[in-house]
Amino acid sequence: MLETTTEPAVIIDEQKIHQTIQSNQHPGIIQVRKTLAKAREMQGLDEKDIAVLMAETSKELLEELYNTAKFVKETIYGKRLVLFAPLYISNLCHNECTYCAFRAKNKNINRCYLDQDQISKEIRTLVQQGHKRVLLVAGEAFPPRQNFEYYLNSIDTIYKTKVNNGEIRRVNVNIAPLSVTEFRLLKQKGIGTYQLFQETYHRETYARVHLAGQKSNYEWRINAMDRAMQAGIDDVGIGVLFGLYNWKFEILAMIQHIRHLENKFGVGPHTISVPRIEPASGSDTAANPPYAVSDQDFKKIVAILRLAVPYTGIIMSTRETPQMRRETLELGVSQISAGSRTNPGGYNEDAEDDSQFSLGDHRPLDEVINDITQLGFIPSFCTGCYRLGRTGQDFMDLAKPGEIKNHCDPNALSTFTEYLLDYASDSTRSVGEKLINTILNNMGATAKIRSEKLVNLVKSGKRDVYC
Ligand code: SAM
Ligand code: SF4
Repeated sequence: MLETTTEPAVIIDEQKIHQTIQSNQHPGIIQVRKTLAKAREMQGLDEKDIAVLMAETSKELLEELYNTAKFVKETIYGKRLVLFAPLYISNLCHNECTYCAFRAKNKNINRCYLDQDQISKEIRTLVQQGHKRVLLVAGEAFPPRQNFEYYLNSIDTIYKTKVNNGEIRRVNVNIAPLSVTEFRLLKQKGIGTYQLFQETYHRETYARVHLAGQKSNYEWRINAMDRAMQAGIDDVGIGVLFGLYNWKFEILAMIQHIRHLENKFGVGPHTISVPRIEPASGSDTAANPPYAVSDQDFKKIVAILRLAVPYTGIIMSTRETPQMRRETLELGVSQISAGSRTNPGGYNEDAEDDSQFSLGDHRPLDEVINDITQLGFIPSFCTGCYRLGRTGQDFMDLAKPGEIKNHCDPNALSTFTEYLLDYASDSTRSVGEKLINTILNNMGATAKIRSEKLVNLVKSGKRDVYC
């Protein structure tokens, strides 16, 4: 089924990236402030601007960078924070990614995959916790005697599983790169975002850490988003595994990838993920990342991405600690996973030794929700845009003039109200109701009318209402 790449264009220009970093190493206070002023216009930044901000190390200017990122985040995304859970369905893998516990030669983990009944059981557990969005994740090998249909059937199973009032309403997918034909089939199953991380855009490093299997083919992976978009999947999510190579190089390369997609398809990625390497069973690379990213640089990464591509969602997973997640929420993160397990079957049994990597945040969903609510963020389980076909370019057309807020805020409040009524602990319900009232009292007229209508519908017993 594999198609050879049809994309001759070089997406990543390594020499240009090195030159841009080199020639902007000492930008000076005036240039940094000029760049931050440009960022406040929320039209994004070019590679030179990004290099200027990446080079900055002074405490005072970093504070200004963070404040600018907070301004952009607040203006575009308000206080909403979308929540999801990863669903690992298999840890079988033919590849040899040196940083991952699932790699083929790792004998330290039990190999397993979930059949459709087990997937349904995992989903019932997640739904009973209050989740509405999952990210389906798998290693790059099919279970015995199964083929690509395994993924398609799994998506069907997830959507079909209902528990009382609840169900999963959006399935995003993070699986190995597919052919255009396979991406079309995935699209027909009604997936939300197709997510795939390049891991590192640096070819030499890529070759060093991907020792065998299909994933060792850099071209096949970097062209995956082109194939997904050709197949009609217009919400794609990209990412880098920070720690494999110099983060400054990776950020500029990611921007080149984004500009390539924008030029070719009229729209860039819907989301960017920012995983940092975490310890993984039997992996020296994961224990000692060659370019470990410090907490300070990690915050810079989130803030700079927020300014560089203001309308692209930033996803943070439970790899990070609660404290780092709190700090980066206001700088730019717009989606977080919560209550996650990274081993197949992990929501119904405790087998962390089989996990893909260690988690930094082990708290259950209700605790995470309680925490972010107390920080003033509205937990959102909204799936409105994707359900109404507001994806790709249509989403960006609403997002860029700021109109999307009139949909996102009401949908966030209605789905949060559902959560509070159906799943929350008493303590979370109490802080949540207070927050909803405060948010409603401070809203613009259009959003307020829509929000009150939706919230009242949920209170009267309706579910899954959105605008
Ligand atoms: N197997 C597919 C692939 O590699 O694209 C999809 C799923 S893979 C399980 C999802 C992601 O986990 C990878 O893209 C990688 O970035 C991340 N990952 C692997 N090992 C990790 C580690 N030690 N720490 C943090 N993230 C890791
Ligand atoms: Fe397999 Fe993905 Fe892990 Fe690589 S990162 S070993 S492809 S599961």
